Parts: sequence; structure tokens; C-alpha cells
Amino acid sequence: MTEIDRATPDPDRIEDIWGARTPYGAGEVWPGRVDTFLPDGTTAADVDRWVPSACLLCSNGCGLDIAVRDGAMVGVRGRAEDRVNHGRLGPKGLFGWQGQLRDRLTEPLIRRNGRLQPASWEEAMTLITDRSRQLLEEKGPLSHGFYTSGQLMLEEYYTLAVIGKAGLGTPHMDGNTRLCTATAAAALKETFGADGQPGSYTDLDSCDAVFHFGHNVAETQTVLWARMLDRLAGPNPPAHVTVDPRRTAVARASTVHLPVRPGTNLALVNGLLREVISRGWIDHDYLDAHTVGFDELARTVEAYTPQHVADLCDVTVRDLQAAAEIFGTHERVVSTVLQGFYQAHQATAASVAVNNLHLVRGMLGRPGAGILQMNGQPTAQNNRECGADGDLPGFRNWNNPQHVQQLADLWDVDDSVIPHWAEPTHAMQIFRYVEQGSIGFLWVAGTNPAVSMPDLARIRRILAQDSVFLVVTDAYRTETTEFADVVLPAALWGEKTGTYTNVDRTVHLSEQAVAPPGQARSDLDIWVEYARRMGFRNRSGQPLPTWDTAEGAFDGWRDCSRGRPCDYSAMTYDQLRGRGIQWPCNDEHPDGTERIYTDHQFHTFDDDCETYGHDLATGAAVTPVEHRAVRYDGRARLKAAAWTPPPENPDGSYPLHLNTGRTVYQFHTRTKTGRAPELAAAAPDAWVELAPEDAAEHHIADGDLVRVESVRGHVEVPARCTGTKPGSVFLPFHYGTLDPSPSNGADAKDDVAEDSADPSTSERPHAANELTMTAWDPVSKQPTFKSGAVRITRVDQSPTRTREED
Ligand code: SF4
Repeated sequence: MTEIDRATPDPDRIEDIWGARTPYGAGEVWPGRVDTFLPDGTTAADVDRWVPSACLLCSNGCGLDIAVRDGAMVGVRGRAEDRVNHGRLGPKGLFGWQGQLRDRLTEPLIRRNGRLQPASWEEAMTLITDRSRQLLEEKGPLSHGFYTSGQLMLEEYYTLAVIGKAGLGTPHMDGNTRLCTATAAAALKETFGADGQPGSYTDLDSCDAVFHFGHNVAETQTVLWARMLDRLAGPNPPAHVTVDPRRTAVARASTVHLPVRPGTNLALVNGLLREVISRGWIDHDYLDAHTVGFDELARTVEAYTPQHVADLCDVTVRDLQAAAEIFGTHERVVSTVLQGFYQAHQATAASVAVNNLHLVRGMLGRPGAGILQMNGQPTAQNNRECGADGDLPGFRNWNNPQHVQQLADLWDVDDSVIPHWAEPTHAMQIFRYVEQGSIGFLWVAGTNPAVSMPDLARIRRILAQDSVFLVVTDAYRTETTEFADVVLPAALWGEKTGTYTNVDRTVHLSEQAVAPPGQARSDLDIWVEYARRMGFRNRSGQPLPTWDTAEGAFDGWRDCSRGRPCDYSAMTYDQLRGRGIQWPCNDEHPDGTERIYTDHQFHTFDDDCETYGHDLATGAAVTPVEHRAVRYDGRARLKAAAWTPPPENPDGSYPLHLNTGRTVYQFHTRTKTGRAPELAAAAPDAWVELAPEDAAEHHIADGDLVRVESVRGHVEVPARCTGTKPGSVFLPFHYGTLDPSPSNGADAKDDVAEDSADPSTSERPHAANELTMTAWDPVSKQPTFKSGAVRITRVDQSPTRTREED
């Protein structure tokens, strides 16, 4: 174990994002390296206790301990023995926790005479339950909608799912996971019959090639990239192939970079599939034994010749064929997929096509050969497992009466209460129902849709409607709380106990380290109180949910997940203390399961599957009868679709492709990372990345203020002339109308003018979602944040620019 960081990280982990290299070779154990951050002269000797937890600032789920002194959080330390990170932490993990120490909401707020004013919990909860009861009596459960997060804990999601499905009976429940991981779930369900990652991070230790499909892992999961960098620095490094219009750090380190034209992902992977098939790099025995649909797949991709794909995608034939050869001739390939694929049109079809690549090569269920349909958020997996995204808990199929009955028996309610007459309502549709007025009670928890949803002008209009009673639970004043009728102060990570599950199915227990500030409470406490006040009961007269503690909720979840793909039944808080365990964890696998599908039997039996599937082109649902007729019976579904153009393309008025995404130093809408001094200073403001060619054509230089405009809105941000693909621009999506950065000097609360939600009052609008459109993938319903057309104009020169540069 190399311990390089004991106090303030050295070298500077803002500059040196991934830290020092610890090279290793294929089949070796990734060497450990403990990263620690204790600011302001604090040393390890000053720490009273270290509380086991895991980082909650991306989906990697790095194990760490929280340093506590005098009842306060004072630092973090990576946990050396954790299977996910072997002690490492990235910039957000090291510094982000400090954002919890300022500007917190400490008491409920109620809107009186148009302004949010302090109130007691009794006043706030009475107001909420009075309005909830009134609407239930007048309009029934379809008047209620819930929109949550990918950052709450498993226990909170499951509690909300029981309240929504067994207490209220509303299908209108989703998370902001719809914006980031809905396609991961959809792609896994379509191919394998159920959600759940086939791969494990340990596959990276033995693979001989890694493919990154729209996944900028260097910025989104820095510790995972450090693991890959260490393989690259060791003997026999794996080949890397990157599909990304931007020349990211991952692209720069890759053997082949395919800078695909935005909106053509599916054409590209169809081209890779065609090349792999036509060159005979396929495993016929595997296809015959474990899949259904190869002939149809081969027919669909036949049209995607290398030259046709090169023309569509604006890549070279040589690079396309080189990438196909790497996939086709290496024995252990890991594929990772993220927002470049998920937040585009045809998102599910393109992500399923990646699954197809692995299936035609028989490359699954063995070390080094894995698929990681990545998550964007730390607890997105739990939102999906527990049913807070609208699905039925435990990866159950809403269209399977046996699955509905299992839940009715478990919760001791009538099955008719549980919404199962149609697919659950996705987030974009929930907001549409609010817009139309049929949802009159919307509870938003742990998310900031007034910055994160597409087409913000429309979202602001919806949230401002008098017809909706808006409850917001959050730890800070945000752009969204400013529309609320009631704001409830939430406890955050380290201030409550709960579990969460990362991308490779590793479950961590995070124990309460410190007390929440003021009157803040956990979301679990808040929802249990709501349920108690509403009087939700099961058929035996017991309160619903039957628990009121985190461990009680976890035990309830263990029962619910028993026998399902995400089986937690043999997992307990005691076993989770200080270590991560991968599900499924049951009597057969009491220590968890590193890799699933090792027997190549998938969840596609009629009575087992989470969904019967969809037509990938239209989103039309496959019926139970149609599914039964095919007799998948445990074999993977090979599904394919033809490429179609995106819904909005550049034209003479708006000549550039729009691309939005993350920066390494911020998370989501910056509520936490924007208040951490090092992170705020590293990325204080939005910007637009332009290809040098496009910048020159518009007489724009680095630092010039640029107006970026779509038909829906505009932003004004400084330019960075970088290596993005010519003809496209990139904007980070983290920035809204409020500036939480410590250098701002003022409490965010004080910055909120009565009409601050209107960006026209902002001197310089810079929220990327002013530009994005209301459109989504037909299967996953994930919005197409990486689509759209914009134009650019120089507004002002950089103050540092010289006259000669103009
Ligand atoms: S990689 Fe993700 S989970 Fe790990 S420390 Fe960084 S932000 Fe946290």
C-alpha cells in the first residue's frame, strides 16, 4: 500500500485529477493508494473517529471514511480495503463534502403572501397533508406526482415506493435518474430481461481492450479512470477505443478515437456489428445456445457498410475498421456506455447495439469480458431497484399479474391499489400532467429541475403554475425551491444512515457521522411522517410502511428483493459495516456475486422478466402473448433498429450541433460542489467549447463572451476554443441562475429576488438547458440533452485579448 496523501493532498488534486500512477498488469491486483483530505491544518491525530461510508458524488461508489471531530465533519479518507477504489478518491470525493457545511436549510419554509417564510414542522406537514387529502378526495391518486433523485438512499426510495404504490396508488413517480440512467436500465432490460450490470470493475484488471461508448470516464468517474490509467501504465496494457465527438482525455489516451457526428451513434455501432459479423469474428455456438434474433440483427446491420457509416458518422473507414478489429480479435473486452449514448435520440437502440456486440462475440459472464451500462448518479441503481422511478420494486414486471400479486402479498394490500394498468409515468410526462393541470400535488425531493430539465423556460412556466401545490425537500435554497409552496430541510450524506449501490452492484452502508443542521431531517423520516399523518394502512390495520427506521426499511427491502435478480436477502447492516458487497447476495451467494450471467442464462423467461420489451425504433411495447410466442426461455434478446436522423438538425439559421455534459469539478446543479472552495474555484462559471475552425469563422478567441442561441432560448458564456468536433459546441449543464460559490460571499438565500427564477433578470444567462429541447428516446424516455441546433455570436471580447488577435 502506498500512502501518498496524509493531510492536504499533495500534489494538488485539482491539477493532478487522477493522482500518481500505480501501474499493474493483466490479472494482477490493482495496487492500493490511500487518498486523504484534512483541511486547515487538521491532522489524523485531531480526528475523534472515522465513520465508514462511501462517496456520494458519482456512480463509482468509492469507499471512504468520514473524519469527525467535536461532532463535525472535518475530512475524508479513502478506504484501502474497499473493492471499488482501493483507497483512492477523486477531486469531488476529496473536497465535495465541504459544500455541506454552508448555506444549509435548517427549518421548513412556507409560502405566505408570495414569499417563502420560516415555519414549524407542524405547520409545514399540516399544510402538505391537508392539500394532499383534499386532492385525493376531489381527484383521486392520479392528482399526485413525485419526482426524486439519484442521490437519496435505498431505504428512502423503497419507503417512497411503498407509500406511492401501496398507500396512495399513483403511477406518477420518477427520479431525475430519468435524465441520466434510464437508458442503462432500458438497454439491460431489453437485452437481458432485467436491469443489473453483467460486468464488474474487476473486469478492468484482466481485460485486453476497453471500449468507451459516449463515456468520458476521465471526468465522470475519475477513480475508475485512474484504474484504467494504471493498466495503461503497466505491462501488456489494454487497447482503448473511444466514441465521442470531443477529444477528451480518454480519447487522447485511446488507440482509436471515433469522433462521431452528434446523432449518429446507432449508425456507428451498427457499422461495428456489421464489420464484426462480416469478418467472421462471431461465436456461432454461443449465439445458437444463448441468444434469439441473430438473423434479424444481421439483416438490419447489413446496410451499414464501412463507407456508408463513415459518411453518416463523419469518421474514417480506417478508424472504423480498426475499432471493429480490436473488438473482433480481442478475447476480453469491457464496454462502458454513458451519456453520449444515453442522452441522444435512439438512445436505447444504440446502447442495446453495444450489448449485441458482446453477445455475438460470446463475451460475457467471464473475467475481463463485461458490459457496464454506466449510471450517472451515485444511487441511481437504487432508485431503479426500489421502484422510485415508477417501476415495480425488485425488477418486477408491471404487466405480469403474478409480480403484482407478490407485492400485494408482501405489503398486505389489495392488488388493485398497486398501479399496474399501464407503464409507469416517466418524468417528462409527469411535468406534462402538471402543465395540463391533472397533477395538482407535486413533491420534488433532492433534485433541482429548474436547472437540470430540458427547455427550462417551459419548466419554469410549469413550476410557477397556480394549479400545482409544489413541495420541495432539499438541503439548500435552489432555483426550484423558489417556486415551492412548502420547502422542507433535508439531512444529507453523513447526517443519516442508509445504503446505496454503485454501477457494478456494490452495496455500501453509510452510517450517520454527525447530526443534521438545525431542524433538517432525513427524507425517510419525512416520508414516514407524511404516511402516518395520511393514515396509510395495510389490510391488517398496520401502518404503511411498517417501518420507521433505516434498518427497518432495509430489512423490508431484503424481503422484497428475495428471489429477484437484485437479491439482497442475505445482506445485513452488520455484514456491510466497513465493506462493499455485490448483489445478488442470498443463501446461495452469502458473500455476494462478482459477476452475473456466468451460466449464460438470462432473465427472459416469461414469468421472470422485468419487461417483455419494446420495438426499439418506435417504443411500442411487446405484449405478453408476443413474448411467449418467441420462447426466449433464458436466452438473450438480440434486438436491432435502423438509424434515423435526430429530431432537430443544424440548418442555415442554427448551423451547429448542441452537446451538453459534465465537468470533472462539479456535480449536477452545484448545490454541494459549488460550495466546496477548491471545486468552486476550479470551475466557477459556465463556458462554451468551440472547435478552433468554428471559432475562427465567427472571429471568436478564448475568453470572448459568446451568445449561444437555439430556437428555445440563449446563454452568454465565455469561449474555450478546444478540440470538440467542428460543427458542434459543448456546454456544461451544471450552472443555473443562482451562484452558490463560496467566493460569492453571500448566502444563496439572500440572492433570491422575488422574480429571480426568470433568467431575464440574470445579467448573463448560462444554464445550458435554456437551449435543450423537449424530446426523448422512445424506449427509455430519457431526454435528448445532446441534441439540437444552435448558432453562436460574439458578444464581447475577452479583456485579456489584444487588438492583433481580433
Ligand atoms: S470517482 Fe466518484 S465516487 Fe469516487 S471519489 Fe470521485 S466522485 Fe466520489
